This record gives sequence, C-alpha cells and structure tokens, in this order.
Amino acid sequence: MNTIEKAVEVLKDDYICDSCLGRQFGQLLSGLTNEERGKMIRNTIAMMVDAGEKIEIDSKNLYGIKFRNSKIKPPKPEKCKVCKNFFPEKIDDVAEETVKKLEGIEYRTFLVGSVPSVEMSRAEEDIWQKTGIDFVEPIKSEINREVGKRLEKLTGKTFSMKNPDVTVLVDLDAEKIRTSIRSLFIFGYYSKLVRGIPQTKWLCPECGGKGCKVCKGTGKLYKTSVQEEIEKPFVKFAKARESSFHGAGREDIDARCLAYRPFVIEIVKPKVRKLDLKKIQKLKSKKVKIKSLKFVDKEFVRKIKAAKIDKTYIAVVNFGKNVDKNKLKDLKSLEMKIEQRTPTRVAHRRADLQRKRMVKRISWRVLGKKKLELKIHSESGLYIKELITGDEGRTKPNVSDILGNKVKRILLDVVKIHSKF
Ligand SMILES: [Zn+2]
Ligand SMILES: [Zn+2]
Repeated sequence: MNTIEKAVEVLKDDYICDSCLGRQFGQLLSGLTNEERGKMIRNTIAMMVDAGEKIEIDSKNLYGIKFRNSKIKPPKPEKCKVCKNFFPEKIDDVAEETVKKLEGIEYRTFLVGSVPSVEMSRAEEDIWQKTGIDFVEPIKSEINREVGKRLEKLTGKTFSMKNPDVTVLVDLDAEKIRTSIRSLFIFGYYSKLVRGIPQTKWLCPECGGKGCKVCKGTGKLYKTSVQEEIEKPFVKFAKARESSFHGAGREDIDARCLAYRPFVIEIVKPKVRKLDLKKIQKLKSKKVKIKSLKFVDKEFVRKIKAAKIDKTYIAVVNFGKNVDKNKLKDLKSLEMKIEQRTPTRVAHRRADLQRKRMVKRISWRVLGKKKLELKIHSESGLYIKELITGDEGRTKPNVSDILGNKVKRILLDVVKIHSKF
C-alpha cells in the first residue's frame, strides 16, 4: 500500500480530523505538526478528486474545500472518528484547566502524560489494522506533546522528561486532570541532644494516628521525634503536606547522638521549591541540631539506607555489685566478632536471627565502685546494650559475663559516626 492508498483507506469511512489523519504519517517529514500533515494529505486527495480521478472516500472528509471542477457537495461532518474532536475543539480548554490546577505551585519544569479514552484507542487500532503502523505516531504521544506545547506558551515553564517538578496526567478515560508534585530531597547531618525521642514519627498502634485514649488524642506514641523537630521549618517554608525521613541507621530512643548522623528528609508535595537552607539550618531546636544541608536527588535515599557505617559509643554502665578491677583487662577479649541473636526487646518486630558483628575497639574508665564508662567502636549493626548486658545469653561474649556482674542501667551516647558521606 503506498502513501496515497493508505490515506484513501483512512478517509474511507467516516470523518477524521487533520491531526488524527496526519498522525498516521507522523514519522514522515519533520518540522510539521500532525495537523499540517493532515491538511496536506487531505488537500492532495481533494486535488485528485477535483481532477476527476475516481477515489472512494467518505465525502464528509472534503467538507469546506473549494473545488474548481468537481461538483460534489460534501456534507458537514460531526465528530472525528478517532479523537471525538479532542484536537480540534477541546485541547485548549484542557491546557487552560491544567494551568488553573497548577496555580499556587512553584515549578520550573513539567511533564505531561495522558490516558486516551478506550474509544480513542480502539478507533486508532482499527485504522492501524487496515493500513499498518509504518509511519504512525500513537495518539497518546500527540496528546502529551500538544498539551505540553500549550502549557509552555501559557505558563512560560519548560516541558522536561527528566525529573520534572510537576507531572500532569490528562486522563481522558476518567475525564480528569491529575497533577503531582515531585518531592524535594535534602541531605544533612543531625545530632540528637536529648534522650527519650525516637528518630521518626511513631503513630499510635492503637488508633493508627487518628487519636484515641491511649495516645491522649495525639495519634502518636511520643510527643516529638528527630523527624518532627527537623521537618517543622521545611514543611512550613515549602508549604508542604508532610515529610518522610531516612537516617543512616538510628540510635535507640533513650540514646543520644552527639555525633552527626547523615540523613535525607523528603518533603512531600512542596508548593515552594526554592528553600533557603542556610536559614533553615539556623532554626535549631533544643532537641536536635542540623548542619551541612544540601539538595540531593531521590537516589541518595537508597545510598543512605544501604550505607554500612561504623560507630563509636560511650556507655555509662551501673552494675549490681562492685566492679572487680582485676577483670577489666579481660574486656579486651571482646575485640572480636560477637554473636548476637535478635535482642528480646526488638524480637516482637524482627525475625529471630543470629548475626555476627565486630567490636573493633573497647576501652574503659572507672567512674565509681559500681560504675564504668565504656567506649566501644563497633561495626554497623552491633547491638551495644546487648553486648553489655548479654541479653540472657543471646549475645556472646558480653561485658556482664566477663566481669561476672549484673548490669543495672546503661546510658548510651553515639559519639562518632565513621561516615563516608
Ligand atoms: Zn481527531
Ligand atoms: Zn491512639
């Protein structure tokens, strides 16, 4: 089938608009819109008709053309059999409606996606079955491009495939326009200056965050968290809905982190994207300090989660009876791979596994008859409290066994994060 034969086939039954006609030849010539291609083809066929050649097409497709010789009177067409007049009549409205939806959102780049209606896709496939798909462009990509062009003109923003600030979905099947805003990802380091707050927001397990008697209506188990302390200014300045928080590991709720721990905070649905990170950094809370904020891409979250980082802890330990000083030097024997079964305190939410983690260095200072300060440099993932208490034999070897002394209390601080970030 040559190009003219294909065009005749497309024009044979029922009316098709210029855009939909041209799109069947969308990969021929460049610098033209499909609408222009469609006009060219239609005019060519019309010239053949005017020359008296016998061509079998639906004459509605020649409506409005001024013939010199031919006496045909084409009837007025109703709707395009493929797009149902989306291109000739509706596309500008869709573009304007989209602009309205994006009002109040700060963005530089956008992307348009679309879902053609089932009828459109079916009509298009019907044509492809008859004429093949050698030079066609799918309707979906024309919708995306043509809506995109109009948005560029109306807003002055840039259409971009790569990391667009907002994505518009023109869903012609559901007759809806949806917009989504790309999250902002900010990397930084935090210190946790107080005990008793978790790293991330803990929803009340009783009500799942709705608020109930158990959580006194707050929906949370703890009043605040590292995440909440850090997110406040971000959520405020970015006019965002919420954040999600990714730390490079986490300290226990009752431990402080006096070192700086890398994190990435994701600001979800930000209406403002240009944030003054220096200003935000200065807004310290009494509980958490942050530094070295910078914008990163989403990929950083994975990097931070996967990072295996050594840590150094200081633990102030109270024992049940006087510490036997002759046994202290034996603590050096802990500088080895420690075998740990999942601690009793986390067993309810984690699988019971055996793991081996290295203690790289341990040193001590006597603080009192029953009180020691331990400084422990360990491989990522070692449970420090259990290394000290032994966790009823689940961690071996351990400080308590070596000293032959029961542990009463531990105050734990992370003092160094041996980070590669
Ligand atoms: Zn059409
Ligand atoms: Zn609750």
